[in-house]
Amino acid sequence: MNAEKDFLIPVDSHNHSAQSPDGKNTLGEMAERACELGIEHYTVTDHLEINKFYDEEFPYEEPVRQSSLLLPPLIEEYKGRVDIHYGVELGQPVHDYELTERMLDSYDYEFIIGSCHMVKGWEDFYCLDYREVDPNYLLRLYFDELLEMAEWGKFDVLGHLTYPLRYIAGDFGINISMTQYEGIISEILKTLIKNNMGIEINTSGLRQKIGVTLPDEHYVRLYRRLGGEILTIGSDAHCTADLGKGIAEGIALAKKCGFDRIYYYDHRKPIAIKI
Ligand SMILES: [Zn+2]
Ligand SMILES: [Zn+2]
Repeated sequence: MNAEKDFLIPVDSHNHSAQSPDGKNTLGEMAERACELGIEHYTVTDHLEINKFYDEEFPYEEPVRQSSLLLPPLIEEYKGRVDIHYGVELGQPVHDYELTERMLDSYDYEFIIGSCHMVKGWEDFYCLDYREVDPNYLLRLYFDELLEMAEWGKFDVLGHLTYPLRYIAGDFGINISMTQYEGIISEILKTLIKNNMGIEINTSGLRQKIGVTLPDEHYVRLYRRLGGEILTIGSDAHCTADLGKGIAEGIALAKKCGFDRIYYYDHRKPIAIKI
């Protein structure tokens, strides 16, 4: 907290810089924008896609190492203006536990979002043509994999629980009957809660075709009903223009679903913010 500065946005706990393959702006540009916007606790969470770690297109080793060197001076530079934290969006950890553990041991991440962007043997949900592959077949694999991740348990919050719907329902306009997944989703949420982990409200959906947060109100309520407490909120911005977007709506949704606080992480410890 800094009494001299008026913070307008309490958090942005999910966003990407050019240290991610799909990010547009440098870490410095993102931090400067966070400062302009009056974001109080800003957590950088660049991609670390475990199953794509050695890909020729974007070998992760070097950018990940670079980020670890760039962050500490940036955190120092913005002290008192933006409280910057060093996080990561860890994709597909269960595809290679050994590599995942090596990476988590090598870097001092303060906050780890666990995400599944693709199930074993398939490309990213965002690349698939759902007229050619049965979305329900993939959704079953997806939720099974989320449960495996939750049971493994070495991250802080589960990223965008309903990620595939961004493409299946949003981009392709395919209506999925989600009641068939209520059981496994409840199981995933209960496992996270048992392991002292949380979920996020990812506000990217509000500026995309799907038009709702990931996950939407139904699942935020379900999480609360099951005893969920830890909730983070992030824009999933991949450029300065999207930073902080939808955070106010995300907070309003959290309140509406019965939460009176949200969290950000400081060295793997959840810190509550009253809302
Ligand atoms: Zn991305
Ligand atoms: Zn993601």
